[in-house]
Amino acid sequence: MKVVETVAAMKAERVRLAGSVGFVPTMGYLHEGHLALARRARADNLTIVVSIFVNPSQFGPQDDFAAYPRDPERDLALLDKENVGIVFMPSAEEMYPEGFNSWVAVEGITERLEGESRPGHFRGVATVVAKLFNIVQPDRAYFGQKDAQQLAVIRKMVSDLNMNLEIVAVPTLREPEGLAMSSRNTYLSPEERKAALVLWKALCLARGHWEQGQRDVASLRQDMTSLIEREPFANIDYVSIADPETLEELDVIDRPALVSLAVRFGGTRLIDNTVLGG
Ligand code: AMP
Repeated sequence: MKVVETVAAMKAERVRLAGSVGFVPTMGYLHEGHLALARRARADNLTIVVSIFVNPSQFGPQDDFAAYPRDPERDLALLDKENVGIVFMPSAEEMYPEGFNSWVAVEGITERLEGESRPGHFRGVATVVAKLFNIVQPDRAYFGQKDAQQLAVIRKMVSDLNMNLEIVAVPTLREPEGLAMSSRNTYLSPEERKAALVLWKALCLARGHWEQGQRDVASLRQDMTSLIEREPFANIDYVSIADPETLEELDVIDRPALVSLAVRFGGTRLIDNTVLGG
């Protein structure tokens, strides 16, 4: 496994690679969810490239950029066991040198949900992912369904800008009790972690009602909201039932529906989602 830290070194390595390249972009502090992406990439491609970069431009002033957990040594040890070919770990200065002034703005779907709660977030995400795609030049890139809106934004960018690669979605990996794995789970106190199970419970409630034939979005949203509000540690940011591609809210579930939520537990904001139908 090679570890490279500069754009020039990554490009030099890329030129030497024959066969298909699968790419897994991450912010590090790896868990089984990230490793599932790497394993899927391994199954589909000859070489895997993983990037570890805590991208400052996708964090707002109130966000947790400085506090975001980091452990590069542990990350490298985990990736070494997964047959990863190259790890790209650039510094912020390497990715955003002085005078950097070009941004990728995916309009429309970035204005809702995470985009509404975190202004500028998706501009940072789309820009860094476009840069990483240009540097790594993968045949396929792997993203978690856990960040459903991010996946939709990347798919839209790749389609609108005619980028020459395939985007592959990987299902969300969960702890045995249902909590979606996330680097941010490490912020939770034991009480908050217990409380955070309400995310999964609310998604299961929606699925259960939908399976019984409920199609009215207002009623489903109300049932989920009431369940979450009964949990004293939880503060709802949004509960959404929307079209999975356009992310427009539905009134009636007459097609596949992305049920997504963002909830704060103390200072930690967690997101999760499930797709009904399709
Ligand atoms: P992050 O390091 O949080 O930016 O995540 C890097 C990639 O891993 C993104 O494509 C995420 O959607 C994906 N990911 C994060 N958590 C999970 C999970 N629990 N299951 C599957 N994929 C995940």
